[in-house]
Formats: sequence, structure tokens, C-alpha cells
Amino acid sequence: MTESAPKPVPRPSPETQPFWDACERGELTIQRCEDCQNLQHYPRVRCTSCRSDNLAQVAVSGLGTVRTFTINRVPVSAAYAADVPYAVALIELAEGPCMMANILHCDPERVHIGMAVQITYEPRGEVQLPQFKPA
Ligand SMILES: [Zn+2]
Repeated sequence: MTESAPKPVPRPSPETQPFWDACERGELTIQRCEDCQNLQHYPRVRCTSCRSDNLAQVAVSGLGTVRTFTINRVPVSAAYAADVPYAVALIELAEGPCMMANILHCDPERVHIGMAVQITYEPRGEVQLPQFKPA
């Protein structure tokens, strides 16, 4: 990675394209197994519970809580130099599954386990990257 390399941009795959399409519309979605009702995130080709491939992409509230987090104080590349320090958190969605994201619009020193958060989006290349902010 060079000094001028931009932040990485997710590249949608056939499995993740519906997720990214929904993000473009400002809608957070996760997968629901139509056979056993298991909810899962990130998008996969099979249900993690029953291995069915009968999966639907369903809208969720975009609300969650911080299960755990870290504060990154050293930029991983020059592209992140202006961002440090920033919080990287594991968010437990209100519907159950977890997703990893940054906590934006908040002093990272205020982030704590159990903190209520809600979805927000960060334009990143061709995608709207789901991030979270205080609820
Ligand atoms: Zn299933």
C-alpha cells in the first residue's frame, strides 16, 4: 500500500450485491433463512444454522448496541491519518446478528459496551458503507 492509497472500498460479490444495493437506498438488511428463520450477517450462500440456500435479504431497524470495541490510535495507512483516533465496534443488532463498523459522530472516548447506536452511512467509492452513530 502506498502513501497515497485511498481507503479500501468493498467489492460486491453475487452474495453481497443485494446487501450493498440496499445500503445504496439507505436500508440496512440482513439475511433470513426462509426454511428455519435464522437471521445472519454477513451475506453467505447458505444458512449457518440449517445449510439451506433458501435465503432472503430482509430490512432491519438499524438499531443496535455496542457489544465490544477498540479505539484505533495508529492509522493503518495514510488514508486513515486524519481519522485517528476512531472506534471500531462489534454491534449487536436489535434483531440479533452482529456486524463490525466504526462509531462515527462521537468522541471515541465516549464509546462504551452497551451503548445504544443507530445506522448511518459513509460514502466510500461506489458504495454506501454502513457505520453507526450514537442513538
Ligand atoms: Zn436455515
